[in-house]
Amino acid sequence: MKVFALFLMTSGIGMAQVDWELPFSIQGQGKVTERSHPQFPGHFHEIDCRLEMKVDLARQSAKLTFSYREADRWVPQTYYFRAGHIYQVDEDGKATPASSFGDLELPAMAILHPKLLDLDKLMNPQNHSSVGVVTQNSLWRKTGDGKTFERAVFSDVHGDGLETLTHNGNAVMVTREDSRLFQMSFEAPRACETFSMPESFHEIEAKSISKSEIALKDVGEGLYLIDLVRLNTRVFVVEFDSFLVVYEGAYSSQNVQLIAEKLETELKKPVKYFAFSHLHDQYIAGIRTWVERGATILAPESTKPLIEKVVNAAFSLNPDALAANPKPLNILVVDRNFPIEDAEQKLVFWNIDSQHTKDYLIFHLPRQKVVGSGDLLFYRPGQALKGRSLKFCETLSTLELDVETVYATWPLSGYGTKNVVEREELGGYIKTKSDDGLAE
Ligand SMILES: [Zn+2]
Repeated sequence: MKVFALFLMTSGIGMAQVDWELPFSIQGQGKVTERSHPQFPGHFHEIDCRLEMKVDLARQSAKLTFSYREADRWVPQTYYFRAGHIYQVDEDGKATPASSFGDLELPAMAILHPKLLDLDKLMNPQNHSSVGVVTQNSLWRKTGDGKTFERAVFSDVHGDGLETLTHNGNAVMVTREDSRLFQMSFEAPRACETFSMPESFHEIEAKSISKSEIALKDVGEGLYLIDLVRLNTRVFVVEFDSFLVVYEGAYSSQNVQLIAEKLETELKKPVKYFAFSHLHDQYIAGIRTWVERGATILAPESTKPLIEKVVNAAFSLNPDALAANPKPLNILVVDRNFPIEDAEQKLVFWNIDSQHTKDYLIFHLPRQKVVGSGDLLFYRPGQALKGRSLKFCETLSTLELDVETVYATWPLSGYGTKNVVEREELGGYIKTKSDDGLAE
């Protein structure tokens, strides 16, 4: 059986401590109030409650299962915390906006335990400062020794109010106008097995991935695919004798940093060139990572100013590797095409007319007869191509590229399209010289 956590003994005290890189759980017991239906002014219900909190800092995710006592049973209420959002799910497993747990509202839930505060900071570092924290549409100001937080609250009936949350050792207390609405004492963190998060919230989530989501798929002859399933996008790697070429970014420097580390450990060759299909954020993200690692950026003249701006931008609110270690930008302009070749491998980037963006780079591996197409080919079996897909096939025909397989960057799923398309599926859309009766 796999060991999921290392228990390290802290010197002298003998207290078990978990490895924060791995999932851990924390149990809590306490009381929550419910003030919506008082029997007389100032009356409220106070209910026993429990919490099982599972946190995975590496995946930037947490699952909070609160339970409240009702007659002789415990009724669970589950919350998910990812990418800065707290949400719940309905019976179909679909994400729904979260409601309060009794009088405990989401802004307090988000910082209920110091480890949740750490998690919130990982997800949105720009919202944390020495002065306070912004989370779940609320501003918490730090007071005193930094363990107490205050936020302004407003009731349409009762007017202005103040909520206070205090971490005190292994306990937390939340009050409003000096009246306690939540208190809980926590047990020591324990290692736990990895836990699943609902899949239905992707559209509004920040596009961040963890190490475990990156797999290098070897499709042979030096071509590797990194399918980032949750982000619905793909990164391509082409291996040469002494270096690698990467095509496409993946939303953020942090994501691409993980990809870079994966390539370093698995392929053990430096990335010499990075190229992206077009200037939309998803694809150019990562330029900074590759610049920091000494790669040359291949790009059309028209995107040069944009790349310079991205490389020179301040990244103090969420520092990446380049912010910590500034490096000069090396850029090579791809006018019409750019071949890269050694004894075993050949790769050509083509700058094409795409009907999508002014300039657009695709790549061609003539030996493998493979083309990487970015987001230009939307092939749905049995349906005619149109728009930019049609234009793309016309371009392949005009350039007379020898192609058997076309790989898309985006989308990998969800639009009824295929992300790997064989030439024969494209029927007559790609014409070659021999189709015209011309000699090769
Ligand atoms: Zn696009």
